[in-house]
Amino acid sequence: ILIVEDEAINRELLTLVLQESYTLRYAATGEETLKEIFENASSLSLVLLDLNLPDVNGKDILLKMKQEGLLDRLPVIVLTADKDAEVESLTMGAMDFIPKPYPRPEVIQARVRRTIELSEGRVIIGQTERDSLTGLYNRDYFFQYANRIYRGRKKKPMDAIVLNIEQFHTVNALNGREFGDQVLRVLGNKISGIAYEFGGIAGRFGADRFDIYCRHTDDYRGIFDRLQTTLDALAPNASIRLRMGVMPFQPDLEPVQLFDRARTACSMARGHYKNHLIIFDKKVLERELLEQRLLNDLRRALDSYEFEVYYQPKFNIQVEPPKLVGAEALIRWQHPELGMIAPDDFIPLFERNGKIGEVDKYVWAKAARKIVRWRTEYGVTIPISVNLSRVDVFDSMLEETLDGILLQHGLDHDALKLEITESAYTENADQVIQVVEHLRQKEYKVEMDDFGTGYSSLHMLSAMPVDVLKVDRSFVRNIERDDKDVQLVALILGIAKNMNIPAIAEGVETEGQLKILRELGCDLVQGYYFSPPLHPTEFEAKFLRGTVN
Ligand code: C2E
Ligand code: CA
Ligand code: CA
Repeated sequence: ILIVEDEAINRELLTLVLQESYTLRYAATGEETLKEIFENASSLSLVLLDLNLPDVNGKDILLKMKQEGLLDRLPVIVLTADKDAEVESLTMGAMDFIPKPYPRPEVIQARVRRTIELSEGRVIIGQTERDSLTGLYNRDYFFQYANRIYRGRKKKPMDAIVLNIEQFHTVNALNGREFGDQVLRVLGNKISGIAYEFGGIAGRFGADRFDIYCRHTDDYRGIFDRLQTTLDALAPNASIRLRMGVMPFQPDLEPVQLFDRARTACSMARGHYKNHLIIFDKKVLERELLEQRLLNDLRRALDSYEFEVYYQPKFNIQVEPPKLVGAEALIRWQHPELGMIAPDDFIPLFERNGKIGEVDKYVWAKAARKIVRWRTEYGVTIPISVNLSRVDVFDSMLEETLDGILLQHGLDHDALKLEITESAYTENADQVIQVVEHLRQKEYKVEMDDFGTGYSSLHMLSAMPVDVLKVDRSFVRNIERDDKDVQLVALILGIAKNMNIPAIAEGVETEGQLKILRELGCDLVQGYYFSPPLHPTEFEAKFLRGTVN
């Protein structure tokens, strides 16, 4: 038992009454108390808390314990002479109170014993209700309690909030499991505090999914920011990002239905670099319907050639005039009813649903055909880079598929270059490194796409098999205005130089950007400055006609 009491005489008295049956520890200030509680919570059975401490009000300690979720495991009996404070302490989560001046020893002993027994019973129940890492409710109990709240106070509007951590497996992979657990614990604590503040409950299911059922608010952004700030403070260098989906209160929707929609909203925020907080509304619903439709239409689209492959040239800018050295194949969907659909609208969707492989193979085969056609028609061999989704890397048939396409078209392994995003590397480093190493042994050339956005550590980079770095266009965008970005690009070019491989700058739109990149020693560029991705007929007209030798 931890006795929190600053007056020596009272401490003595309690000691006499309790020392025979219990091991006693003492604290006389708020600071000592919190230290004891946080460091020894698991070995304490009870706190006897005097509300009148020299440095803080005992109620603040109670509140703090409640916010941290400690009161469920560690009961508190309040010691006070103030009748009003007794009731208030009970509503704040104290299990009982002992009035001052103290009653007879048997009364104190009885209350202490009863409180400890009650709380031990509760802890045993609590262990099955709660997730052991964060102390939040597990799935079954969360929904059981949410339903109870819903039925009990139909008129009180309650919102559903779902939270995830972006790329949590990467956080684990880069920093270790123990760190990952700490992130979950700290976040769980904060979430528990917020749920309490908004008169609600919180649960954790799966590794990094948190659900909050709480009183309706308009300030979702505020909640998001507080949680994100907590993570930023915990790991200023790891850049751990949350995503959050909200389904605001609807009188006729039960918690399970509310949370279904909140989860949909949350998954729409996935991988969105700008929008980490999505509130379920008509737009989200429309988006969901559109995605359903695109999934349904995929088969037909493949069979009736609705996918087009556009080509964007890559230029060597260290020679004058700049010289065409290759092209990137970029898919477009010419949908009969919806018109032209950009890849960002369907690639992530097909990745999530395991359909991307089919689409990518279609593109690879088309690109291979194009290389052959350009060679026979224009007498030039233009290497074409194709995009590999992170999902393709896990396809055990990947190598055979690529080999088959090249064989069928009589092409060498370095004709079709492979772009793999840096984030694919960092997400599943071991697997990707192994697959890419294999491909490179066969003389495939692999370009690391979107470099600078995937959080490679320098240590990882040194182990990464890759032939070209493609500097993400977000670094190029502001180099004319921002000296910092110039330095960043210079740094990335330095990394490429150190790895002894060329770098391609993406998204070059202006003469000014080109000039800076050339001066920084960048060899290759791709971007609207030279050309947007073009339909093959246009590409031929613009870059190949006249090259016939
Ligand atoms: P990415 O691989 O980074 O492709 C480059 C994107 O940047 C293309 O967008 C291109 O049109 C755009 N871009 C090129 N130059 C500029 C510029 O100067 N300024 C700006 N603002 N943008 C420029 P797109 O074609 O919409 O493709 C988007 C993404 O979709 C691609 O990003 C790639 O990740 C994915 N993607 C495209 N085609 C395929 C494919 O066949 N398979 C797979 N798995 N992914 C693909
Ligand atoms: Ca690419
Ligand atoms: Ca890119």
